[in-house]
Amino acid sequence: MSPAREAGLPLFERMTADIRHDWSLDELQATHDIPLLELVFRAASVHRQFHDPAEMQVSKLISIKTGACPEDCSYCAQSSRYSTGIDPAGLMDKDRVLEIAVRAREAGVSRVCLGAAWRSVRDGEQFDRVLEMVRSVTDLGLEVCCTLGMLSEDQARRLEHAGLYAYNHNVDSSAEFYETIITTRTYADRLETLANVRKTHLTMCSGGIIGLGETVLDRLKMLQTLSSIRPHPESVPINILSKVVGTPLAGQADVPVWEVIRMIATTRLVMPASDVRLTAGRVKLDQTAQALCFLAGANSIFSSETEFMLTKAVPSPSYDADRVLLEALGMRMREPFQHGQAVTVCG
Ligand code: SAM
Ligand code: SF4
Repeated sequence: MSPAREAGLPLFERMTADIRHDWSLDELQATHDIPLLELVFRAASVHRQFHDPAEMQVSKLISIKTGACPEDCSYCAQSSRYSTGIDPAGLMDKDRVLEIAVRAREAGVSRVCLGAAWRSVRDGEQFDRVLEMVRSVTDLGLEVCCTLGMLSEDQARRLEHAGLYAYNHNVDSSAEFYETIITTRTYADRLETLANVRKTHLTMCSGGIIGLGETVLDRLKMLQTLSSIRPHPESVPINILSKVVGTPLAGQADVPVWEVIRMIATTRLVMPASDVRLTAGRVKLDQTAQALCFLAGANSIFSSETEFMLTKAVPSPSYDADRVLLEALGMRMREPFQHGQAVTVCG
């Protein structure tokens, strides 16, 4: 008898790989609590129905405006509320962005993510410069993502017309827990930006963070929120809290690796057609743990030519280290604009 059956979980006998938008918390809890290797097996099975398991989408984050953010996200190195040692920097020149993007393309990266530590986008010269960056990096044959804070529908359309491929705006956790970690904006504000993105043909990148002090139920409520979006976010970043000295969450306990793997596998089962990105905090996982996350359905990562993701406060694996890891696992980097090509994505 299968471990799932032994565990008295008949629900999973009819585990389907449908695209669903109506997951109940009971179903999510029961899925999350499947005996771990059975959960990984099921997630790996579903993963193969929607994705090429030998492919890894690799992204590169570029901080185009760093630090001095007025928001109080209690995990963030870039908030002006906390002394984290980050050197604020104004909007980067387009040529510098292009230099980094060209090197990223040479390293096999298919998506460049332009991150600005803004509360929200403001029309004007700086946004016009970002639009120009989007056009120029797109012309390199790369997918471009932006994560610029809150966005109006009109701004989303302007980014779309500039050639943007994806917009990132994470919901981070459950609505209830969110208000304990951020007070300068609301969960509804986040959902409004996501709704604006969904009014365009931009793809959506939205996920969250584990290790903030949330409960498993908070994590599942986040997945319930994300999977209620139609269609599901095309990419779902799962960050592990990178503890930044000077922020209120610097002293949080580490997330046990089994909880990371459970979260990846559950995300895969709940949003089978989405890219599941193992994001911040991956650098703290050894290669075996990363491989288990990939087996469980993580098919996207950030990599970097420097040893950090956006700022020096959040470390990142290097292009070289990731090349060695993917080769050892018999995996290859996905070409740009190939999301969902393994199967026809519906939903
Ligand atoms: N300012 C934009 C915003 O808030 O949407 C972009 C911020 S950052 C580039 C994008 C995401 O990275 C955040 O929404 C958060 O989920 C994640 N993040 C930021 N700092 C982190 C940390 N220290 N550990 C883990 N994830 C983090
Ligand atoms: Fe600002 Fe974004 Fe950091 Fe929050 S996560 S403090 S909005 S840069």
